Amino acid sequence: MEDQTKYLLNESDIPHFWYNINADSPVAPAPVFNPQTKQPITPADLLALFPMGLIEQEVSQERYIPIPEEVLEVYKLWRPTPLIRARRLEQALHTPAHIYFKYEGVSPSGSHKSNTAVPQAYFNKIAGTKAMTTETGAGQWGSALAMACQFYGLDLEVYMVRVSYDQKPYRRYLMETYGASVFASPSDQTSFGRKLLAEDPSNPGSLGIAISDAVEQAAISKGAKKYGLGSVLHHVLIHQSVIGEEALKQMDLAGEYPDVVIGCVGGGSNFAGIAFPFLRENLKSGQRARLLAVEPTATPSLTKGIYSYDFGDSAGMAPIVKMYTLGHDFMPPSIHAGGLRYHGMAPTLSALYDAGLIEAISVPQTRVFAAAVQFARCEGILPAPESAHAILAAMDEAEQARKTGEKKVILFNLSGHGHFDLTAYNRYLSGDMEDYSYPDNEGKEISRHLPFMPEPAL
Ligand SMILES: *Cc1c(COP(=O)(O)O)cnc(C)c1O
Repeated sequence: MEDQTKYLLNESDIPHFWYNINADSPVAPAPVFNPQTKQPITPADLLALFPMGLIEQEVSQERYIPIPEEVLEVYKLWRPTPLIRARRLEQALHTPAHIYFKYEGVSPSGSHKSNTAVPQAYFNKIAGTKAMTTETGAGQWGSALAMACQFYGLDLEVYMVRVSYDQKPYRRYLMETYGASVFASPSDQTSFGRKLLAEDPSNPGSLGIAISDAVEQAAISKGAKKYGLGSVLHHVLIHQSVIGEEALKQMDLAGEYPDVVIGCVGGGSNFAGIAFPFLRENLKSGQRARLLAVEPTATPSLTKGIYSYDFGDSAGMAPIVKMYTLGHDFMPPSIHAGGLRYHGMAPTLSALYDAGLIEAISVPQTRVFAAAVQFARCEGILPAPESAHAILAAMDEAEQARKTGEKKVILFNLSGHGHFDLTAYNRYLSGDMEDYSYPDNEGKEISRHLPFMPEPAL
């Protein structure tokens, strides 16, 4: 059909396997270290935090990992997600480019995070876990895991970054509606939280601090509670591959192949989800799609961070991994509303970026919100501010195509809707939003805060 807009798949087209890029990647995963002993991490160390099923995926070299039937059943509530051609946006931009987006905001909690929340709760359930702990920033991950834990009968404690807890109560109400207990972080429930609150009772919190709260709770529970992370870890990236596998089939239905695949990056999971199946095609089938990761100028871990070993959390309790990082004690500027605030980047994605297989840019938040508003006015969907980073990059690619007359095919991931982010939209619409650029040449300063970790001879 000439002017088709939505490319839909059947339930039977939901992938039955997750894709593991490590089976095809030319770069070997860097070793991970125990934060206390500084020795290579053992499965026993990881078992204090995660169930065996997820640890096996974390280190797996299998190309395709079967998705359990019990997870597929739940995926059917919102998968396959639609692929949509942004025809009205193309017209508004007067571009010869074709713009497609994969829409993950149709999941019940409103983002791609449900794709990993469900298998994480499931693998905990079958390992006998009774309760989980986690952190959340704006609340997307917390609400996805709250829903998933409810489905499998697990209790959940969520440590929510203090500023969001105070300023964005609606996500908290959603988590509580799904049955989770939500605490502001830094929290008086943990020794790390109490230490920070003693130093500064008005500490606004950060994702790194909230991870420390959640990890400490799991660690002191002596196995009663396990910890779940919504991004960064390799098993999370594996779960998100359903996005790209579906998109490959849907681009085929549209009779096109993307020249560029775009995603926003916080910890890297939704970008990896859409991009890694296309990277497989680049590596194995001679395709040449560019893969473009988009981050905020306020938290530019790929474009201004350093590639080094760092803690996953602020307290230095989470494993030490090799990644692009701004330093585990990084505090995002308070004027930054656009999300994507984590100090590091998924190790798998970091290694591929370092190897030159992935491109990255950073964009300022006022342009991001301008793109979000234009997108909403053309396409009707109110994007999450995070996702709007990808929209802006797609629009910039389309604008270049307008100048050169190229019939470029652009695919981006719309990772979630922004129905809980209207305070940030209001700030933008009332002219109250500023840009912030992380300073250049901070590498030396960052490295002073890193755990010393020589590159081991392998
Ligand atoms: C959490 C989130 C992100 C950022 O996380 P990644 O792991 O980089 O995907 C992006 N978009 C939305 C809607 C989110 O909820």
